[in-house]
Amino acid sequence: MKFQSTRDQKAAKFSAAEVIKQGLANDGGLFVPESIPTLAKEEIDALCSMDYPARAATVLGKFLTDYTPEELLADCRAAYAPTSFVGGAAPLHKLNDSTHVMELWHGPTAAFKDMALQIMPRLLSRALVKTGEERTALILVATSGDTGKAALEGYKDIDRIKMMVFYPVDGVSTVQKLQMQTQTGNNVNVTAIKGNFDDAQTGVKKIFSDADLAKELDGKGYFLSSANSINWGRLAPQIVYYVSAYCDLLNAGEIKYGDKINVTVPTGNFGNIFAAYLAKLMGLPIDRLICASNKNNILTDFLTTGTYDRNRDFYLTMSPSMDILISSNLERLLYFVSGAEKTAAYMKQLNTTGAYTVDSADLAAIKASFNGYFADEAATAATIRRTMQESGYLIDTHTAVAVSAAAQYQKETGDCKPMVVASTASPYKFAADVYTSLYGEAPASDLAALDQLSEKTGVEITYPLRGIGERTVRFTDVVNADGMQDAMLAYLTK
Ligand SMILES: *Cc1c(COP(=O)(O)O)cnc(C)c1O
Repeated sequence: MKFQSTRDQKAAKFSAAEVIKQGLANDGGLFVPESIPTLAKEEIDALCSMDYPARAATVLGKFLTDYTPEELLADCRAAYAPTSFVGGAAPLHKLNDSTHVMELWHGPTAAFKDMALQIMPRLLSRALVKTGEERTALILVATSGDTGKAALEGYKDIDRIKMMVFYPVDGVSTVQKLQMQTQTGNNVNVTAIKGNFDDAQTGVKKIFSDADLAKELDGKGYFLSSANSINWGRLAPQIVYYVSAYCDLLNAGEIKYGDKINVTVPTGNFGNIFAAYLAKLMGLPIDRLICASNKNNILTDFLTTGTYDRNRDFYLTMSPSMDILISSNLERLLYFVSGAEKTAAYMKQLNTTGAYTVDSADLAAIKASFNGYFADEAATAATIRRTMQESGYLIDTHTAVAVSAAAQYQKETGDCKPMVVASTASPYKFAADVYTSLYGEAPASDLAALDQLSEKTGVEITYPLRGIGERTVRFTDVVNADGMQDAMLAYLTK
């Protein structure tokens, strides 16, 4: 299996190891597989009797053909070990007759980004060997919270990789900051910057585009790489859990082979829901894909009208990991419905005017699979309350956006096919907002919210967040935004 850029009409081809190492294509496009492998009935039958790591190795093997089955199985067993995914990698919780919640947050940082970031560093480490790379990869990440911690956990103590995370000193929650400041591992560094997330992001981009700096790093035996969600190495592992959920529903007798299911995904960057679309293209019996947005409902508008317009107000919400106006992975969907030439043109328009409108044929092709719904802050809080009252089930703010969207879709269409809702974070990761949503008053503090929520609901605190206030703080450096490069060079000479 080879890969090409979403914008390249000449369709130059790259191996999986090359695209995982490189991240973004040279023309600014994203890497996509040249064809879609299929999942036959016999294969799904076989997957049903496997555990999650074996399912993952099988599905990944269809795309990563330059990795051996033994390599993939070893990496998946290590990534999805029961000691790091306590309670299972992607278990289903039956919410009501037609809705199943897929819990993707049992990993070491209590958010779904672990599903990809536990395996991707292992794939990158092998890619360095496969591509004859002799330097060490230096991963730079600017984070507004979840990605930084998940990347730190994924890359810590991985061979031939070093990592540096920058976060805005006042722009992450107390829990998120503590999670990063107490990070373990001998190849990682965490630095706060004075500024907001955009300043951190801009600083990282500046480092990436500095050719002289790249030469200097090369002389020291390093090259720069990124861990963000446009890398194919993060997307491919996300296909697995949709396939796995179908197998679990078959095993539980909830469906028969061939029965179609619907899927709802809380979305910001369009990565997770695009993985579900790929599973559908592979032949997994998925009917509708419901794209759930918060008050930043740019994708709801796009899926309804065909116009993507980021010239609009940006809102900070209680589902911050979905506060995004640039859904990078949407470019991959455009490529599959309209091809490289039109995708390149749409992206050029987006870069120059901040907006583009797909033509009616493309919109029809997108609507053939996708619906978009959103939940504002009041609807999100009401969904957290209602889900607790009706089902006794505690959900986080991002999952609540999805549960609301799924219910809106079901009510509007009367479609009662089994619905799988992706649950992307532990309720304890956003405990303060969950607490306020449930009880109408703020907790004593962000940290106290964890214990207060657990006491009132009787639901155990997710293991990576237990005792977070008592861990040893390792990283306390704060630098100016224009000091990021110096901080990086200082870290490398340590
Ligand atoms: C990153 C994130 C999302 C958004 O996922 P995308 O695939 O990037 O759209 C949703 N929920 C949580 C908790 C996240 O961390």
